[in-house]
Amino acid sequence: MLRVFIRRADYDYKTLKPVFFELMDSTAGDMIRKNSRVVIKPNLLAPAPPEKAIVTHPLIVKAAVEYVLYKNAKPVVSDSPAVGSFEKILKESGIRGVLEGLKVEFREFKTSVTVDAGEPFRKIDIAEDALTADFLINLPKLKTHAQMLLTLGIKNLFGCIVGLKKPEWHFRAGVDRDMFARLLVKVYQTVKPSVTIIDGVLAMQGEGPGKSGKPKHIGVLLGSRDTAALDIAVCKMLSIAPDRLLTNKFALEQGLTTEEITIDGELPEIREFKFPEITPLVFGPKRLHGLMRRHLLQRPQCDDPLCKLCGECWSYCPAEAIKRGNKRIHFDYEKCIRCYCCIEVCPHGALSAKETLPGKVTRRLLKM
Ligand code: SF4
Ligand code: SF4
Repeated sequence: MLRVFIRRADYDYKTLKPVFFELMDSTAGDMIRKNSRVVIKPNLLAPAPPEKAIVTHPLIVKAAVEYVLYKNAKPVVSDSPAVGSFEKILKESGIRGVLEGLKVEFREFKTSVTVDAGEPFRKIDIAEDALTADFLINLPKLKTHAQMLLTLGIKNLFGCIVGLKKPEWHFRAGVDRDMFARLLVKVYQTVKPSVTIIDGVLAMQGEGPGKSGKPKHIGVLLGSRDTAALDIAVCKMLSIAPDRLLTNKFALEQGLTTEEITIDGELPEIREFKFPEITPLVFGPKRLHGLMRRHLLQRPQCDDPLCKLCGECWSYCPAEAIKRGNKRIHFDYEKCIRCYCCIEVCPHGALSAKETLPGKVTRRLLKM
């Protein structure tokens, strides 16, 4: 039977550290060997302070580093951020500061190894450091995600796809959420994290995972050696069917995990959690999908007074659907594939997904 551990926690380091160590002892046991290279992969989406709940909290990263040192192994903090420089994120998130004086290496994922992930993706380039680590601690943040509903343990590993390969994959998967979820599960199967501990102390709800989301206190850490089982447990905690999260659905379909999970600890029932509005509005014959996508799906929109014309959105957009004007940005909704990456990467919270009128009507009809 798969085991998921859940513990009450907060960001007071005196109490957080023993809780984190206990979770690591329960999940990793004696698997971390002396002098082994242990890669710690937090969610380093963008430069943001801990109270915004965008990145894994610095004290959780510190607890992971101290645990690895306590095992006489070598901790390396790594990720390939979507927005901003790796160094800037370490600084603004507070991670660099809390780790001062500890023997830890910071190493951005830069080089990839091409792996054959089978059909339909075939070749995927994955961070070499993640694949060659002796032990990998996956440290996601519990957040909503405008395209995929939630970003948890499996989704956090998308950061093991290096740099601009990420928008390339968004473009290949396009509006097809199923396809993107299958890709995420493939990355998970390839990277095989040794242990996943989710930071659910200050989670994010609403239009996550970037600055348009809103912090929500839950006060838990969840850990397991089985990342998919962990993601299923989080869905149960948030009172939704596990297969509403498509990565869970495909992990279950492929027999990578089961819903028969033993929970060690008390799983709270969170009923008032705000999810992004995601109803499948693209259906029927394939030739009509483009039309439906353009008219029914929520569109990224800009709150102009908040926009600083910084360029993050148009340089990341995989469809080249955003242009800079003199005073504001312009979307080409014919080109836009509705991946919502721009919302994710906007450092000023200026973008959000807005319902179209035909989409609103169709959604109501479908609900009836
Ligand atoms: S919408 Fe956001 S990311 Fe795009 S230019 Fe404006 S501030 Fe920058
Ligand atoms: S405009 Fe935004 S949602 Fe549309 S394709 Fe570009 S990044 Fe994706």
